[in-house]
Amino acid sequence: AITPIRRALLSVSDKTGLEALARRLTDAGVELISTGGTAKRLRDAGFGVRDVSDLTAFPEMMDGRVKTLHPMVHGGLLAQRANPEHAAAMAEHGIAPIDLLVVNLYPFEATVGRGASYDECIENIDIGGPAMIRAAAKNHADVTVVVDTQDYDAVAAEIEETGGTRLETRKRLAAIAYGRTAAYDAAVSGWMADAVGDRTPRRRTFAGYLSQTLRYGENPHQSAAFYLDHSARPGVATAVQIQGKELSHNNINDTDAAYELVAEFDPAAAAACAIIKHANPCGVARGPSLADAYARAYDCDRVSAFGGIVALNRALDRETAEAITRIFTEVVIAPGADEAARAVFAAKPNLRLLLTDTLPDPEAARLALRQVSGGLLVQDQDTGRLDPASLKVVTRRQPSPAELDDLVFAWSVAKHVKSNAIVYAKGGATVGIGAGQMSRVDSTRIAARKSADMAEALGLAEPTVRGSVVASDAFFPFADGLIAAAEAGATAIIQPGGSMRDAEVIAAADARGLAMVFTGRRHFRH
Ligand code: 5GP
Repeated sequence: AITPIRRALLSVSDKTGLEALARRLTDAGVELISTGGTAKRLRDAGFGVRDVSDLTAFPEMMDGRVKTLHPMVHGGLLAQRANPEHAAAMAEHGIAPIDLLVVNLYPFEATVGRGASYDECIENIDIGGPAMIRAAAKNHADVTVVVDTQDYDAVAAEIEETGGTRLETRKRLAAIAYGRTAAYDAAVSGWMADAVGDRTPRRRTFAGYLSQTLRYGENPHQSAAFYLDHSARPGVATAVQIQGKELSHNNINDTDAAYELVAEFDPAAAAACAIIKHANPCGVARGPSLADAYARAYDCDRVSAFGGIVALNRALDRETAEAITRIFTEVVIAPGADEAARAVFAAKPNLRLLLTDTLPDPEAARLALRQVSGGLLVQDQDTGRLDPASLKVVTRRQPSPAELDDLVFAWSVAKHVKSNAIVYAKGGATVGIGAGQMSRVDSTRIAARKSADMAEALGLAEPTVRGSVVASDAFFPFADGLIAAAEAGATAIIQPGGSMRDAEVIAAADARGLAMVFTGRRHFRH
């Protein structure tokens, strides 16, 4: 069954595609009604359009806060055409039916995104738009609602073909419409909670707005899309892509992991580089220059770095760009890139380069979400950072200043490695990373093993893990993991402590002349 469309109300902030739509509607004999800015745009383009203020016999007032909030509008949207009482009310009050509603909302998310003032954000909360959208969507039995410029073409085509729309189409559009108003209010709610500093995971609602559809998800048989939240946080979601193929689902996930990790390292103190595969780092290093940091991150695990994601904490320079382009890399993300570096990358057009203005702030409070069947798990993001002064030395031997430096570095990396996480580091670079194992002792052995393989590949006399320090994201439940690390050649250990067997673990460290510090805080990451 087709419901005919004779009258349309158009009220859009984003005027993309408006004139083309109006042309097709007018040609199909549809009468147009519009709010101020939309009506002006249409009139300027030569369309005959009726003003909403004429319909309501009220001017648009209060800076546009009150434009369409009127029974002449809402009656026309909400009246059930086949209901005799509704029809009588329409006749009595002279309310004409509105069959098609085309609305897109004040750009609240974009206004927040560009860092506008509080008052400006408030003024960009659309009131009448969502009210009309919700009314039209509720009454989808009779009314067609369009909230996305992407839907103009299909709706216009259906009207041209049938003179109206199918119920199925109206239902589909109503679902999109409620999705839009829900996401809109979720953005307002999240922004307000942030504005008052309320960051508790209680009484929050979560939604995003569609940024792009992706070719596929984690695997080719999964369809996927990328949604943005209101935060406009510097990172993969807001970065500008300078070149390269479209980002994939896994690229986005890995790039996020890489950038959040490298942002742990203050660019004013040292350059830093993180190389990520499957959301885990396969090499992280600090250095006097980016090229040095990249080279040492690469040397941690050259095999895994192939096809990796590279994140930098300083603007990409030519020397680093040249080193990166020597192997196959999927994505590079950095807070800027100079002209020479861009020229180097331009020769590799498939290599994706993402740039942001600034690094993400690793201490910025925010919520982390994970989906489970039938629900969402919400928690504070793990923004915990180590205060080196709070470390507790539990062994007879104190760590040397060089060891202490590496312990803090390894700990910062371990926070970004899937549990069970073991990170060996030496001289400001990881030399072995064990990730995602079900047993801590396995992670310890795998990390040492990878380091030995790498040393062999590099033709080194002994594994790089000799004389390194080791970080464990959670306590050693038994002494075996620590003993394995000591046997691999680690000289100092950083871990939270707190195991029932801490005394055993400390004794094993003392027996081997190791230095060990407790952080009192763990960094599980799953
Ligand atoms: P225009 O550019 O046509 O003047 O305004 C279009 C915008 O106004 C649309 O984004 C629409 O959602 C919004 N709008 C329509 N009616 C009202 C209303 O009564 N109050 C507010 N605050 N916004 C409205």
